[in-house]
Parts: sequence; C-alpha cells; structure tokens
Amino acid sequence: MSKSEQLFSDAQQYIPGGVNSPVRAFRAVGGTPLFIDRAEGAYLYDADGKRYIDYVQSWGPMVLGHAHPDVIEAVVEQAQSGLSFGAPTELETELAEELCRVWPNMDLVRFVNSGTEATMSAIRLARGATGRDKIVKFEGCYHGHSDSLLVKAGSGALTMGVPSSPGVPASLADHTITLAYNDAESVRDCFARMGDEIACIIVEPVAGNMNCIPPVPGFLEALREVCDAHGALLILDEVMSGFRVSLTGAQGHFGVDADITTLGKVIGGGMPVGAFGGKRKYMEQIAPTGPIYQAGTLSGNPVGMVAGLETLRLVQEPGFYERLTEKTERLVKGMLAAAKEAGVPLTANHAGSMFGFFFTDEPKVTNYQQVMNCNTERFNRFFHGMLDEGVYLAPASYEAGFMSAAHSDEDIDATIAAAKKVFARLD
Ligand code: PMP
Repeated sequence: MSKSEQLFSDAQQYIPGGVNSPVRAFRAVGGTPLFIDRAEGAYLYDADGKRYIDYVQSWGPMVLGHAHPDVIEAVVEQAQSGLSFGAPTELETELAEELCRVWPNMDLVRFVNSGTEATMSAIRLARGATGRDKIVKFEGCYHGHSDSLLVKAGSGALTMGVPSSPGVPASLADHTITLAYNDAESVRDCFARMGDEIACIIVEPVAGNMNCIPPVPGFLEALREVCDAHGALLILDEVMSGFRVSLTGAQGHFGVDADITTLGKVIGGGMPVGAFGGKRKYMEQIAPTGPIYQAGTLSGNPVGMVAGLETLRLVQEPGFYERLTEKTERLVKGMLAAAKEAGVPLTANHAGSMFGFFFTDEPKVTNYQQVMNCNTERFNRFFHGMLDEGVYLAPASYEAGFMSAAHSDEDIDATIAAAKKVFARLD
C-alpha cells in the first residue's frame, strides 16, 4: 500500500470522503488521490516522495509557482507579528489600492476569505442595489457553493432553475435562471421576456469550470448590452481568470466593463483571500456605508494580505504575462502535435495561462454540451497515464489547467514527451 493510499484510508475515517473539497477525491478519474507532502515551483511532491510537474497549481492561485521564496518570506515575517487582529491594518489598504489601481473599473473593493464568499456577496449587492431577485448564470460556470449559485438549468423552462444539490431550497433556485454559455441570443431573449426582474448576470468571462472555454466574439459584449438596457448589473467572476488570463483578467483581455468583479485565488497567493469590487455607486451600498450587509471575522487577514501583495508585485514585472502565455502556447502546440502524431483526436483551448484539452473530433469546443460529449473514459486513462509519468493534471476532464511562471521549457517539453508515451498506448 502506498503512503497516499494509507493516508486516504485514514482520512476517510474522519473527513467525509477523506477530502475537504470533493474534486480532490479523484471520484471522476478513479484511483487514490495523491496526498501532498510539499511543493516547490512547478513541482508537487507526494507523501511517497514522488515528484510531479503540477498543472493544477492549487486550482489556480500559484501563478508564480509553489512556495515562491519572496512570498514565503513575506508570510513568515508577517506571521511573527500576529495572525489575525479583527481590526483594520494598513496592509488591507495597500492591497485594495493595488487592485483599484490595476483594475480600471474597481473604485472600491471588499476582502473576503474565498471565491464562494466573493460571488455570494456580489449577488447580494446586485439584488440589494436593484431591488430585484432574479439572477442569470450560465450552464457549466461555477461560482462557488452558495445556495443561489448551486443551480442548474431547468429542463427547457426559462423561469425555473433546479437545485443542483439537496439542501438548496427550490424556492431560491427559482430565482436563478441558467442559460447556455456563449449563446448571446438566449440572453437577449431572456431579457426581452423578464429583463426588469433581473438583478444581475454573473459569468466566468473565460470559463474554467467546464474545462477551459473562452468567450466567443460578441458574447461578453452582448451581456454588457442587455445589462445596460435593462438596469441589471454585470458581475464578472474572475476568481479563476483574474491575474491569469492577463494582469486585468479576462475583462482586460477582451475589453469588457464589469459593474462588479469577483476575485480569489491569485490575489491571496495561496492564502484564503477573495474579494469583490467595482463601481463606487454600488460598492458604497455595502455596510457600513450602506444597508447591504456583508462581514467576516478573518476578512483582510494580514498574512493573506502580504501573500497577495507580494504575488501582485511579482506578476507586474515587465513581460510576466507574455512569458506565461508563451509557455502555455508551447505546451498546447506540443500536446496537439503529439496527439496528431499518435492519431488521437484532441482539441485545445487556452487563454493566458489557462488551458484545456478535449478528447473529441470537434475542431472547436465552445459550450457545455460539447464538453459533456467529450470522451471522458479516454481522458481518465490519459490522466492516470500522465500521473504514472510524473505529470499532475486536474483530476477531472471538466477542469482547466494552469501554467505557472516556474514551469521551465524543460518541464513543458518533459510533459509533452510524457504525453507522447501515453498517447501511444491510449485506446
Ligand atoms: N468562482 C470561480 C470562477 C471559481 O473557479 C471558483 C472556485 N474554483 C469559485 C468561484 C469559488 O471559489 P472558492 O473555491 O474559493 O470558494
């Protein structure tokens, strides 16, 4: 029995499914999750001492790679001054100022502790500011596990969202309208029918929770247009894409203006930090300046703030995102060529440092249905083949991959070489 197998068995005695977030359990791909001992740069080391080139990067936050020495030093130094005060610190202003300086439509920002909290609070703000209850989201987008957002499409019925988990009240799900990603027409149609009841649209401007699906030209623009026409807020959920697709996320890359932006992952450099921010006229409606309540004991945590500050300092070094995108392109091109050579049908998407591979004959994958039609069995065999070769991919075919600044060309070429071996024996 490997050490990971033993640790997984132990964990299941005390933690539901042995994990604190379901996808970690490897249910989609089968087998035993790796228990991680430590990580450095592009590499993870499991409890058995095996090294992996890591393309999960803690599901996105580690854009610099794991355990960047400057970030670690800042965290250790800050920790010595205390872990939490529940009172304001200068560090919060510094990180908030940095975010407002970098993101053009962010006048004010509030820190929280996770992406879930950021989107949940942004939705409350949109509802409070508009006095409307309905929200629009898209199939295949994930915005955390709050009740209003754990809702899938009703069967063809535009008005009825269906809870995607027991425990989400149907009466609440009813306020969530789920439309098809990249389908501007369905959004226009929905707003034509009930635009004056809709508080907001929330969208991943590059979707990273149904593998990696960038927006088709015109989609994000259409969202902005209907929101303006009907007095709804546009919430761009950049928890994953923020500081990943570009310095100013997907909205900077595609030139779309958000009313509220949600952030997480990179802004805490691996510590539990999220944020929602945006236009002053909305953000000042949050307590204590306004009546819309939102709070957090550990929000703006000083250790998280310094990890974020140090990370954001480093990603703003000249050429950072150009290099990161080049690395991603190197990987994508190499993988596609290797698959072609082996006769394995493979399609890829990428945006900045996010990428995704699809086992499909389709030349382009732009929506949830197409993702669902990909060959999951083949992905699962590919995943395990790559794991055996020392490459750690996200353990499910509907997750995006992440490049970090720490991945060298040699790491990327070793990944492609590993894929060649795995493709050759993939049926
Ligand atoms: N929004 C997006 C776009 C996400 O990808 C995620 C998490 N993967 C969340 C929100 C929720 O973030 P958290 O897991 O930190 O609650």
